[in-house]
Amino acid sequence: MATLFISDLHLSQDRPEITQLFLRFLQGPARQAEALYILGDLFEVWLGDDMVLPDYQTAITELKTLSQTVPLYIMHGNRDFLMREGFEAMTGSRLLGEEVVIELYGIPTLLMHGDTLCTDDLAYQQFRAMVRNPQWQTELLTRTPAERLELARKYREISKTETQGKEAAIMDVNQGSVEQAMRKHHVQQLIHGHTHRPAMHEFKLNGQVAKRIVLADWYQTGGMLVCEAGSCRLATID
Ligand code: MN
Repeated sequence: MATLFISDLHLSQDRPEITQLFLRFLQGPARQAEALYILGDLFEVWLGDDMVLPDYQTAITELKTLSQTVPLYIMHGNRDFLMREGFEAMTGSRLLGEEVVIELYGIPTLLMHGDTLCTDDLAYQQFRAMVRNPQWQTELLTRTPAERLELARKYREISKTETQGKEAAIMDVNQGSVEQAMRKHHVQQLIHGHTHRPAMHEFKLNGQVAKRIVLADWYQTGGMLVCEAGSCRLATID
């Protein structure tokens, strides 16, 4: 039995083949898992539990089916942070907080989406502070679906323009922030997504080997982290 971690699927009507891949994953490998963790950006956009986009309906139904036999944990990403209790109910999942420590086969492991570790990207952190403000979110959720869609479109345009002008290094994690988060939670292992740079990084922390595992995105193919007692490995899904 293995525990599976995925992130950054960015499910969207623009890439129906990735939705199909995800559905096959849910009906296949995920069924055999001890637990499935989705560490953010499952959806390209989530504008409130009261307005599920039609393209997401099948995935939601399949998540619900899976959750009847496999524990399903989902974290917010920078795209789908408006998921709430309604989403938990429709998928049978449990939403995780921003920084969660689990015992992964005896190893305390910190789980994060990863965007809060990209502290060199000041413009993004500023934007994040705004959209994660509860008042801002409450206000947004009172708007009509059409207004929310329009606003999301606008922010995506801004984000696209800004990202193009940014150096790649700025959009990666800051090592100091990584170590700070790991020290704060007393862990030597961290799993996150967001940067779309799958890898297993090893470095020294508190005089011991520490591990930072980065999950793959689901753009060309899918990816997952498979953890069993004693080992974790990154695998491709296609
Ligand atoms: Mn992300």
